[in-house]
Amino acid sequence: MKTRTVDFARYSSIRIGPVAEVTVLERGERVPEGHFLVGGANNLLIGPHPPPLAMLGKDFSYCRLEGERLIIGAATPTGRILSFCKKHDLGGFEFVAKLPGTLGGMVAMNAGVKAHETFNRLLWVETDAGRIEKGALSYGYRYADLPGAVYAAAFEVKKGFDGALAEALNALRANQPKAPSAGSAFKNPPGDYAGRLIEAVGLKGYGLGGMAFSERHANFLVNLGGGTFEEAIALMRMARERVAKRFDLLLEPEIRIVNEIKAPLK
Ligand SMILES: Cc1cc2nc3c(=O)[nH]c(=O)nc-3n(C[C@H](O)[C@H](O)[C@H](O)COP(=O)(O)OP(=O)(O)OC[C@H]3O[C@@H](n4cnc5c(N)ncnc54)[C@H](O)[C@@H]3O)c2cc1C
Repeated sequence: MKTRTVDFARYSSIRIGPVAEVTVLERGERVPEGHFLVGGANNLLIGPHPPPLAMLGKDFSYCRLEGERLIIGAATPTGRILSFCKKHDLGGFEFVAKLPGTLGGMVAMNAGVKAHETFNRLLWVETDAGRIEKGALSYGYRYADLPGAVYAAAFEVKKGFDGALAEALNALRANQPKAPSAGSAFKNPPGDYAGRLIEAVGLKGYGLGGMAFSERHANFLVNLGGGTFEEAIALMRMARERVAKRFDLLLEPEIRIVNEIKAPLK
């Protein structure tokens, strides 16, 4: 199998991480045992001691129409999915405009915006265990219970790309910070917003070294320059402790922490 040297301080959206050798899969290859599969690293906080890492190579980046089904390779970036849908006048993926990632990361996170989520139109996923129909998977808000790597997925699409919907969903991002981040640090608890809770415990805009909870949106942990894994973890721990104490509620990280030293938030 091929490997590639990746500087995660450049590759990841939060601009934190080590330089690491990553196994890059080609057509027909499968993720080796014990490896963590990285997509676009838009939802990851990679520590100084990551487990062995793998990525899907360009053979897994494609969109193909089969009747009313759109088959997408798991390494396909969201930008490519969006332009394919615009070009072929297909509806269902308008929400991926400005949602950075690859199809694999979208499925694993059930990524979405408001009611528009990846699983809404999912039909099946191709995995190490073969093709699995959506009905056999358990999933929910920013969660999918997958048996491991996804190599491709099929979606039901409808005719007509809805430009107005894409615009409206983009407009919701008006107050999204521009500084590097991994999106929302914590999942919204039922009936509430993680950002509101973080602000209520006085951490909106609060920083440690190069990292801070954004002034614009408290649930975005931003890297203002030279931020480290340790600073990010310390801030997330602080937010969890304060929110737990004041609201008796444990915030669940949305960001995936990738480091051999387990449970850094406990
Ligand atoms: C500015 C910004 C805005 C964002 N806005 C949103 C938003 O509105 N809504 C939202 O839901 N998210 C949002 N995110 C988070 C991120 O865009 C999504 O979680 C996206 O789906 C991550 O995709 P990725 O390819 O980068 O996955 P990664 O971050 O690389 O990985 C995320 C998880 O997916 C797993 N994974 C990756 N590929 C595969 C595969 N092929 N098979 C199985 N598992 C896989 C990884 O192992 C990991 O557990 C935002 C992030 C940023 C930086």
